[in-house]
Amino acid sequence: MELFRSEPDYASLSYEEVRDIALKCEKCPLSKGRTKVVFGTGPVPCDLMLIGEAPGADEDAQGEPFVGRAGQLLTQILASVDIKRPNDIYITNTVKCRPPDNRAPLTSEQEACYPYLETQIFSFVKPKIIILAGSPAIKAILKTDEAITNLRGKWQKLPGSDISIMPIFHPAYLLRNPSKESGKPKWITWQDMKEVKGALEYHRKLKELVKESED
Ligand code: URA
Ligand code: SF4
Repeated sequence: MELFRSEPDYASLSYEEVRDIALKCEKCPLSKGRTKVVFGTGPVPCDLMLIGEAPGADEDAQGEPFVGRAGQLLTQILASVDIKRPNDIYITNTVKCRPPDNRAPLTSEQEACYPYLETQIFSFVKPKIIILAGSPAIKAILKTDEAITNLRGKWQKLPGSDISIMPIFHPAYLLRNPSKESGKPKWITWQDMKEVKGALEYHRKLKELVKESED
């Protein structure tokens, strides 16, 4: 089917080349309402990646993911388990352009944008762990309609790969549910992030051991 591929072969390009293509992308109608394309930020490669839903107003203005109020809460949640932005995590979204009026991205938009995300995951970031923040990201990546309350906090594998997935509540949902009481969404998310931190440490130690045995 190679003959009929309409996508350029992103895997053969550099990170900067793929990003530059995305910055000019008009593959779906979200291109019409955006100010800036929000490709993603963080180191490549990176053991930890987070995929959110879509850019909001602040992200659209700045061209960076998770920089508005939800983003500030995300930064705090990560810091609470000693994961620092921007060096410890690569952050992006299921679509790179802001949907009108902050509506959820359509499946067709997520599908149009997926080649960028796929290339980010498999060619550049190559994460050991992916955090999926909120239902739209969980649905898009895990292809499931199961409720987030059942999925969050449970490790899964990204289908067809060895990458561990941790679904969590979206920080915007936590802004609407600010109680830190035990059992409430914010507290639950902190437990989920402690799981992520533990898994990240495991991978770090494993890498050290492999390196020691090679030296
Ligand atoms: N919400 C998201 O899902 N992504 C962002 O980048 C900002 C807010
Ligand atoms: Fe292109 Fe993705 Fe933006 Fe749609 S959302 S125009 S596919 S970069």
